Amino acid sequence: MTPPTPMATEPLLQVRDLRVSFALDDGLVRAVDGTSFDVMPGQVLGVVGESGCGKSVTMRAILQLVDRPGRITSGEIRFRRDGEMVDIARLPPRGAVMRDIRGGEIALIPQEPMAAFSPVHTVGEQIVEAILLHSHRWGEKKLGRRDARDITVGLFRDVGISMPEQRVDAYSWQLSGGLRQRAMIAMALSCKPRLLIADEPTTAIDVTTQAQVLGLLRELQAKYDTAIIFITHDLGVIAQMASYVVVMYLGRVMEQGPVDDIFHAPKHPYTRALLRSIPGLSGQTRVALPVISGALPHPFNRPAGCPFHPRCPDAMERCAAAVPRLLPVTPNQLASCFLHHDEAELP
Ligand code: SF4
Repeated sequence: MTPPTPMATEPLLQVRDLRVSFALDDGLVRAVDGTSFDVMPGQVLGVVGESGCGKSVTMRAILQLVDRPGRITSGEIRFRRDGEMVDIARLPPRGAVMRDIRGGEIALIPQEPMAAFSPVHTVGEQIVEAILLHSHRWGEKKLGRRDARDITVGLFRDVGISMPEQRVDAYSWQLSGGLRQRAMIAMALSCKPRLLIADEPTTAIDVTTQAQVLGLLRELQAKYDTAIIFITHDLGVIAQMASYVVVMYLGRVMEQGPVDDIFHAPKHPYTRALLRSIPGLSGQTRVALPVISGALPHPFNRPAGCPFHPRCPDAMERCAAAVPRLLPVTPNQLASCFLHHDEAELP
């Protein structure tokens, strides 16, 4: 399935019909079930959906970090590298090329930075090691440890850590949650990645620090021209951060398009329900998606047909029998919904 690319320049990343399954004792969980989207160079792409909708598994697949018993069963993850598209889904997860891409060209900012830093080395030492490992990304000249430390201090300054010369020598457990998250962003930027994946990066920090971290990511994106995939369950955060948005549900893309179009003229019933949960747009207080009736189905009881049909207020007879394709429904938006077209996926 190949949705048309919505922008003129060449994509940095193309995910096509990606499927990731987990073979568990109780059955097969199709965590990602035919997901397709593009990321353009320097673009901030928001990926939104409830927990369990496959956002994080999709991102781990892009980094070839899907934990056993999960595996990529089909699809492509094409990443532009030295002018050519490399299919990450076909690369050995521990091979040299994948190691160079992971951390070097695509970096991850995880939800909980405490787990990402080792407690027995200072954060500065860990960032210096990452810089030395991918030192070619800082130019032709071979970097020494002193150069790498200077770069680390500069990155700490860039991410707004005061007294950077002293703080590089701190251990992660000596830093506050907000400083740890900033140090994690410095770590992610240390290899000058072309794509940054931020997986709910403000979940573990307080509201004031959240706003600062979002502002910081916006500044850094502009300064380094790094593309960002920003994963969140909160469309309010998407409105602040992203220019383009992908809405996911049960491992599939329900709708995608520019943020303005999606916010002002959502086409998919699931997107409409998500939008009604944002305060200010509906006049209601935000609660955990109260406007969507029913609960997310159990992973072993995935509904046949359109995955959203048991909760959809607009469901028709056909919706329980066939899976709608993701197709253009306006010049800018794609949606997988029979309200807008008749085409179903092949069985
Ligand atoms: Fe609702 Fe049918 Fe559209 Fe699915 S295909 S979102 S069930 S109307």
